[in-house]
Amino acid sequence: MDEKGLSEEEVLAELSFFSNLDTSFKKVLSSMCTIPHPIAMTAYYQFIHSNVGDPGLFRGVARMEEEAIKITAGFLNHPNPGAAFGHLTSGGTESNIEAVFHMKNRSAVFQDNSDTKPNLVLPKTAHFSFKKIANLLSIELKKAEVDLQSRVVPKSVESQIDENTIGLIGIAGNTEFGMCDPIDQLSEIALKYQLPLHIDAAFGGFVYPFLAPSRPAFGSKFGFDLPGVTSVSIDPHKMGLSVIPAGILVFRDKSFLDLSLDKIKVKTPYLTSRDQSTLTGTRPGAAVAATYAVMKYLGRDGYQRNVAYCMDLTDCFQKELEKIGLKPYLDPQINIVTVNIDSSAIDIDTTPAPGTNFNKETETTREKTDKIRSLLLEKYGWNVSATKTIPALRFVLMPHVTKEDISDVVSDLKKLLDDEYGKKPQR
Ligand code: PLP
Repeated sequence: MDEKGLSEEEVLAELSFFSNLDTSFKKVLSSMCTIPHPIAMTAYYQFIHSNVGDPGLFRGVARMEEEAIKITAGFLNHPNPGAAFGHLTSGGTESNIEAVFHMKNRSAVFQDNSDTKPNLVLPKTAHFSFKKIANLLSIELKKAEVDLQSRVVPKSVESQIDENTIGLIGIAGNTEFGMCDPIDQLSEIALKYQLPLHIDAAFGGFVYPFLAPSRPAFGSKFGFDLPGVTSVSIDPHKMGLSVIPAGILVFRDKSFLDLSLDKIKVKTPYLTSRDQSTLTGTRPGAAVAATYAVMKYLGRDGYQRNVAYCMDLTDCFQKELEKIGLKPYLDPQINIVTVNIDSSAIDIDTTPAPGTNFNKETETTREKTDKIRSLLLEKYGWNVSATKTIPALRFVLMPHVTKEDISDVVSDLKKLLDDEYGKKPQR
């Protein structure tokens, strides 16, 4: 550290320098985050100093947090939103960790203190945060197969359950394809085996409930109206238009956690509350305020408009792709589109299902995909991602993307494909 501090001007100049290294979200088609809504930013600055981990001192943000949980439980179809229990987290990873932490703490497997390792049954398509969870909590991950639509196969889930299973995971909006698992069937399995069912709706949670009735995925069920669903992770800092960090973990009710809370609750004599049971201690009240503000400002109608905009981009993107002879690997259910750029090597009907192994031919396709992805960035400045389970480019059509971006990126993609591999046959 320097002996003497810099002037405000100098610090601000440094900040400008670093800010210029960051993206402004222009030409970003890879991120599941976006520019926060202005009302969220205003609320954030107003509560910049507040710590919702000390709710006696910050009673205002504590109230807003309760309200945000109730609103979330409401649009997740909770039969009695006031009974839901939860809090804001730093995002999907923390929410998932904490949900599984509770599963482990309330399970008999863990209480036995035996050598047996608890396990979690989850779709192959689950986010990599579960890998961290397995390591952190010493849990075995039992991965269930997915179908050609990248949705978990309920029979495969059921076949993986054994006496050491502490819970099940379902996904509403998987990271690579945006697909929603058949959560109604997972709910039945959870009830049959009396296991908790946590839904990872980090991305899809602010999309699926707000789709227009004309969309094929309208009405996809993953919320608390399904009796087996015990908790949901949903991220306001993704499609919820709040600030980073803002995740939400919501449980059906507190009684589900009694066994677990007793174990993880710690006395907090130096705070204004008597005890604390969240994973983290100090938590940003500003993120709570931002999330509360944007939810109140937009209401259901505002989120429907946000999703309609992104789905309109998704349609437009598909049309532009068609014009150059490409099409998505799966029909997008929400605003994530994966694209095979090598239609000669990958046939939509014969490509292995997501999550299965690839043959040599598709490995070549992966190299081509990686190359095109790099060139899109190097030559044209586009940030796009690639999928791991199949070799395809992945585009996330977030609120910061425009229709102009869509036609520009597809036209740049075509130029690259023509330059690199010659003219593509029309499908
Ligand atoms: N779950 C899903 C389905 C995700 O897509 C992501 C992130 O992309 C996460 C969890 C992790 O969220 P975060 O990066 O906010 O921790």
